[in-house]
Amino acid sequence: MGIVYQRVLFKLSGEALMGDLAYGIDPAVVQAIAQEVSDVVATGVQVAIVVGGGNIFRGVKGAAAGMDRATADYIGMIATVMNAMTLQDSLEQMGVPTRVQTAIAMQEVAEPYIRRRAIRHLEKGRVVIFGAGSGNPFFTTDTTAALRAAEISADVLFKATKVDGVYDSDPHQNPNARRYQSLTYAHVLQQDLRVMDSTAIALCKDNNIPIIVFDLSVRGNILRAVTGETIGTIVGG
Ligand code: UDP
Repeated sequence: MGIVYQRVLFKLSGEALMGDLAYGIDPAVVQAIAQEVSDVVATGVQVAIVVGGGNIFRGVKGAAAGMDRATADYIGMIATVMNAMTLQDSLEQMGVPTRVQTAIAMQEVAEPYIRRRAIRHLEKGRVVIFGAGSGNPFFTTDTTAALRAAEISADVLFKATKVDGVYDSDPHQNPNARRYQSLTYAHVLQQDLRVMDSTAIALCKDNNIPIIVFDLSVRGNILRAVTGETIGTIVGG
């Protein structure tokens, strides 16, 4: 099947970069992801990426341990920048031009987030990696992914996970769990299905951005997803 999208946004959780480690970044895993992203870029599809930070720090956890929530969230956002830079390094070593843009200014290491500039980079074939989430505490990188996808007019939001789609119950716990091939935003919200947080789903719903949930650990899945092969679960209107 041919290329069906012109501009896509991938949401990679911090855990996706962790591999089998208990914490942090597995360089081999990042390299494998970068290779797949590179294959997608080679097809001419414009690629934007939002990375999480859960492999390093999560605001909610910090708050549960007694920290001020907003402060903890800022630390979480900074964690995502480490992931963004790691991914950038891997991609550039493969010859893929990239830009990291951060929602919290740190101009010595990355560009500040400027929407029109991000779009220009994409048009020039550069992979744009968005770091520091939305720049606001009390949000998540899932919501950031939905927000950036809307801002750059992405055709689709790909949510990379560790399972091959959305199930009616946890497939790790229930062997009879059923995988949905497609779902509506309303269904996801009503049933509180764990696709992305509800703010992210609502943003996608309001802006008509389809979400495709797929398993990142299967090699070649990123390219498959972009070429429109049916993988995972699609959430739409
Ligand atoms: N975060 C935030 N605002 C944002 C995005 C992220 O405060 O717009 C913080 C929040 O503390 C979160 C952490 O950054 O726990 C890491 O992001 P997230 O948990 O979304 O990462 P993922 O689960 O995708 O690895």
